[in-house]
Amino acid sequence: MNTRQWLERLVAFDTTSRNSNLGLIESVRDTLQAHGLKPWLAANPEGTKANLFCTLPAANGGTQGGIVLSGHTDVVPVDGQDWHTDPFQLTDTGDGHLYGRGSCDMKGFIASALALVPEALTLPRKKPLHLAFSYDEEVGCMGAPTMLAELQKRGIRADGCVVGEPTSMQPVVAHKGISAWRCHVHGKAAHSSLTPQGCNAIEYAARIVIHIRELADVWRGQGPFDRAYDVPYSSFTTNRIGGGIAVNTIPEACHFDYEFRYLPDQDAEAIQAQLQDYATREVLPRMKQEFSDADIRFEFSGGAPGLEASEQAAVTALVRGLTQNREVRKVAYATEAGLFQDIGIPAIVCGPGSIEQAHKPDEYVEVAQLERCDRFLRRLAQSLCGADAEAVHAT
Ligand SMILES: [Zn+2]
Repeated sequence: MNTRQWLERLVAFDTTSRNSNLGLIESVRDTLQAHGLKPWLAANPEGTKANLFCTLPAANGGTQGGIVLSGHTDVVPVDGQDWHTDPFQLTDTGDGHLYGRGSCDMKGFIASALALVPEALTLPRKKPLHLAFSYDEEVGCMGAPTMLAELQKRGIRADGCVVGEPTSMQPVVAHKGISAWRCHVHGKAAHSSLTPQGCNAIEYAARIVIHIRELADVWRGQGPFDRAYDVPYSSFTTNRIGGGIAVNTIPEACHFDYEFRYLPDQDAEAIQAQLQDYATREVLPRMKQEFSDADIRFEFSGGAPGLEASEQAAVTALVRGLTQNREVRKVAYATEAGLFQDIGIPAIVCGPGSIEQAHKPDEYVEVAQLERCDRFLRRLAQSLCGADAEAVHAT
C-alpha cells in the first residue's frame, strides 16, 4: 500500500483519545507480521489501548542502534466542530489537500512510515529502522512512557529518533515542556448565613490561583527568556475551575486545573514544588484554623518534558542534511521527543503538514507534504545502509 492508501485506512479508525486504538494497532501489527516482522505491543493497564513497536533489523539481523520513527495514533475530538467532510473518511477534494481528522496530526507521517516498510526491507541496512506508534499523546503523553519503559527493559538502544509531528517538513530542535495538574481544595460546608461554621473551599482555591498568576507574571517580567519562541518565557495558567453547589451554601470542595509550559532548561519538579510549598505554608494553615480536617491535594494530569535537541547528535545532522535546513526552529507545542531524549535517544521533530491545520475542523494534509515526507523517509532509510550516511553527514 502506498502512503495515501495507508492514510485512508488509518483515518477510518476513530482513534479519538477517549476511544480504544486497538483496531488501528492490530491492523498495523498484522501487516507488519505479514512482512515477516515481529512487532510487539505495550498496552495500558486496562488492555483497551496499546503502543506498537517494531524493528526492521539490519541485514545481518542486528537490532541495536539505528533510527526510530515515532508517531502517536490518537487524535483530538471532532465534537462541536463544523466539518464539511466526514472527519473519519479521507477525502480528496482535488485542491491538493487530503481532509480527515488526524491527516496532519499525525497519521500522515505514520502512513508514510508504513508505506516505506516493503522498500526498506529490500535495502542492505547496516543499522535497523524502528517504528514506535503510541496512544494517548493528545491527552498529555500518557501512553508512550509504557513503551519506552519496555524498550529499556528489552535493552533496545537506538541512535536517534524522528518524531513526525507536523512541522511542514522543517526540523524542529526544541520545544517547551508541559506539566498539567489538578488541585483539590477541601473545606467545610455550612449555611451561608453561618460563615464562621464553614471553611470556604473556593476562597482558598482562589488564593492559590492568584499565586499561579503571580508566578506567571514574574516569569513574564524577569525571564528566563528564550527569544526563539513565540512566547519567549515560561507560562503558568489556571484554565478550568469547579466548586460549590448553591448560592446559599459555603462550598465544601473546589478543584481547578492548571498547566505550566516551561523552557527546556527549567525544572518542572521545582516549579510544582514551589506552588505546593505555597499552598502548604500559606493557605492550608489558615484553612485549618477554621476546619482542622481541611486539605489541599495536587494530582498530576499529564505532561511531557521539553526538548532541546543536541546539535552534536547524529540524528540532528542527518535530518538537517536530508531537509537541507540549518535553521534553529523552536515551537510552542510539546511532543513525545523529550521522552525519547530522557531515556538517552537523541530526538528531533520533523513531519508532514502544518501545525496550523492540526486540531481544527477540516483538518488536512497537503499531498505535496506527504510526497516530501516519502522522499525524506526513503533517504533516511538509505542512510542506514552506510554508503549514503557519510555523504549525508558531510552536507
Ligand atoms: Zn500530534
